[in-house]
Amino acid sequence: EPYPVLTSSAASDVYRDSHKARKRFGQNFLHDPLVIQRIVQAINPLRGQRLLEIGPGQGAITLPLLRACRHLEVVELDRDLIQPLADKAATAGELVIHQQDALRFDFRSLADGERLRTVGNLPYNISTPLLFHLLEQADAIQDMHFMLQKEVVDRMAAAPGGGDYGRLSVMIQYHCRVEPLFRVGPGAFKPAPRVDSALVRLTPWPQPPFPVKDTGLLTTLVRQAFSQRRKTLRNALKGLLSEQGIRATGTDPAARPETIGVEQYVALANQLETET
Ligand code: SAM
Repeated sequence: EPYPVLTSSAASDVYRDSHKARKRFGQNFLHDPLVIQRIVQAINPLRGQRLLEIGPGQGAITLPLLRACRHLEVVELDRDLIQPLADKAATAGELVIHQQDALRFDFRSLADGERLRTVGNLPYNISTPLLFHLLEQADAIQDMHFMLQKEVVDRMAAAPGGGDYGRLSVMIQYHCRVEPLFRVGPGAFKPAPRVDSALVRLTPWPQPPFPVKDTGLLTTLVRQAFSQRRKTLRNALKGLLSEQGIRATGTDPAARPETIGVEQYVALANQLETET
């Protein structure tokens, strides 16, 4: 395996709360102090930085982050968690709580000249749409540290050629450097999820290595390509790009979508742009 597993050790009940975890909000609360410490170390929060946490829950990472930064913004949807969180944070620093849906949250409005450092042990049921929502605002983000389903992290980091490689890989890698940091077993969370998890660091490129002229066209093209991943590019891209157009970018029209790298997808999207 390419990145290490962090085994859950002295799992404790530091966050013994009366709150009953809600499945519909994807609530799996971290309770392993070693894992929490490693996440905070990976983030390396510094005073003066603009940090934003998505889904603070009962505050497992919120409180150590707040102690380090003294100021933290959080977006939490579950209203029942807001007051207990505010109470816990009272002596740790200045916590600004936005009781909102992160899927609709305007991250850009908080950046205000300085880019955001975004972190979160994300609700797994909305992680993919949330990642796409964040990518649309990547210019306002300095970096992101997310705990996700391990399988999602593997898909984000995948290289062309394998079964993990797909729409998520191309779109994330177009916008960001992807660093899987460590894996975490189910025992670090309460309730324990059925899947393994992993922490990933995403750093938006100051300039994408292969700039596309119109990111909307890249999105359209990549979505169409991978909706038919067993087909050849020629067939999968029918109606968007002709065989000739594909060939003009130096790509083999008989290749399969999962064998094409980010640079080639950018070339295809730029070709589409000249044709439309
Ligand atoms: N950060 C806490 C931890 O590590 O223990 C909680 C993590 S839990 C996996 C996900 C959190 O995201 C929950 O607190 C849940 O209520 C919140 N959440 C779920 N859907 C959300 C949404 N659409 N917008 C904002 N927060 C959401």
